[in-house]
Amino acid sequence: MSDIKFFQNVQTYVDQAAAFTNFPKGLIDQIKACNAVYQINFPVKIGDRIEVIEAYRVQHSHHKLPTKGGIRYSDMVNQDEVMALAALMTYKCSVVDVPFGGAKGGIKINPKNYTVEQLEKITRRYTFELIKKGFIGPSLDVPAPDYGTGEREMSWIVDTYIQFNPSQIDAAGCVTGKPISQGGVHGRTEATGRGVFYGLRQACSHAEDMKKLGLTVGIEGKKVIVQGFGNVGYYTSKVMQENGAIIVGIAEFEGGLYNAKGIDIEDLKKYQLENKTIRDYPKAKFIKHSNLLMEHECDILVPAALENQITKENAPRIKAKIIGEGANGPITPEAESILLKKGTLIVPDLYLNAGGVTVSYFEWLKNLSHVSFGRLDHRFQESSFNQLMNMIEKNTGKKISKSERDVIHGASELDLVRSGLEDTMIHSYENIHEIWKKHKKISFRTAAYVNALNKIGASYMELGVFP
Ligand code: GLU
Repeated sequence: MSDIKFFQNVQTYVDQAAAFTNFPKGLIDQIKACNAVYQINFPVKIGDRIEVIEAYRVQHSHHKLPTKGGIRYSDMVNQDEVMALAALMTYKCSVVDVPFGGAKGGIKINPKNYTVEQLEKITRRYTFELIKKGFIGPSLDVPAPDYGTGEREMSWIVDTYIQFNPSQIDAAGCVTGKPISQGGVHGRTEATGRGVFYGLRQACSHAEDMKKLGLTVGIEGKKVIVQGFGNVGYYTSKVMQENGAIIVGIAEFEGGLYNAKGIDIEDLKKYQLENKTIRDYPKAKFIKHSNLLMEHECDILVPAALENQITKENAPRIKAKIIGEGANGPITPEAESILLKKGTLIVPDLYLNAGGVTVSYFEWLKNLSHVSFGRLDHRFQESSFNQLMNMIEKNTGKKISKSERDVIHGASELDLVRSGLEDTMIHSYENIHEIWKKHKKISFRTAAYVNALNKIGASYMELGVFP
């Protein structure tokens, strides 16, 4: 698959959408270009040898600051991939109205080949390299987790940053996806997967669109296959299942699982944690070539692993009516044309997996305000509700039961984060949907890019870059 140029694919999507905007070509060219590409090679002592580590940070667009985007640890990291992912972050932030430019980082390592201490060393050294060149900071560039990284790495990053910037009051906002104890926000870990659910639920709520696909309205009863059982795949399938979907297949790199009656996601997660694999899980059929699982009968397919998974080679055999891009760039443009001809609804990455960066934005706001969401009004809300209950009891003469009262409580940080995420995903879907319907023949992806370009273009024009 090395012949697939990921950055070029993103550019192709932008060009397709640009035709439906009124911006001059020069402005579109500026929007498309990566503003800054930083490639680093640094030495790290691993055991008794010195290893040269290849790493990147790409800031795609400075039209809004800070720039924002995750850091990936994978031995497939390369400049083309990081540039493509950085560009996607720009469009993603724009679609969900998160006021950041796009960025992305990557370290070319397989984290499984290193001890925790070695990973810490590599992460701290990488952070130091970013600090040296101004490629990290709460007002400059704010990394987050991505494939192969999580809370642990974000902790090392924030700690290193604070060591070099001890007097910076907002230093905790230099990275998001941190553990709660280090300034993280409740609901960040599940955010991308939960956002995928909100997005797909919104797609399935449009009766006319569902009718065209031959599907019923709503998520309930939909047969779903998810590719990837990492953070995004796990939370997507978990929340989808909690809301009535039937998860018939889970594909991982070591193979896939299929059960037409549905797979209990929590049970499978427990099995995976105990056995370090999903192989031989007794309550589903094991499929050795996991990519073949994506070709099984289902209503919704969610690729939630890596890019370029659905290509012109396997696209003709995909049977799903809806494909929800949990991952970034899982479908190539050639594959997309094949799928669109079949009438598949593709809910694209730049919208569907934007829940992660949306909640990252909330975390950054929490860090800048130095107070957790709900801290000031939680108790006040709860006592107001209680007073209202008492008044209802008094005036109606009827007793409200304890279980009924328990439903009423002041909003916690998690409640507020989920509410903000849900609202964002619903509104953004409707905005894209409106463009999609207006232009009739364009894809949902093109509509999402038109939505993004209109906002980014307007921002550049207002900045006065193009007098
Ligand atoms: N890595 C995630 C993404 O691709 C999250 C980025 C962020 O939170 O900044 O959207």
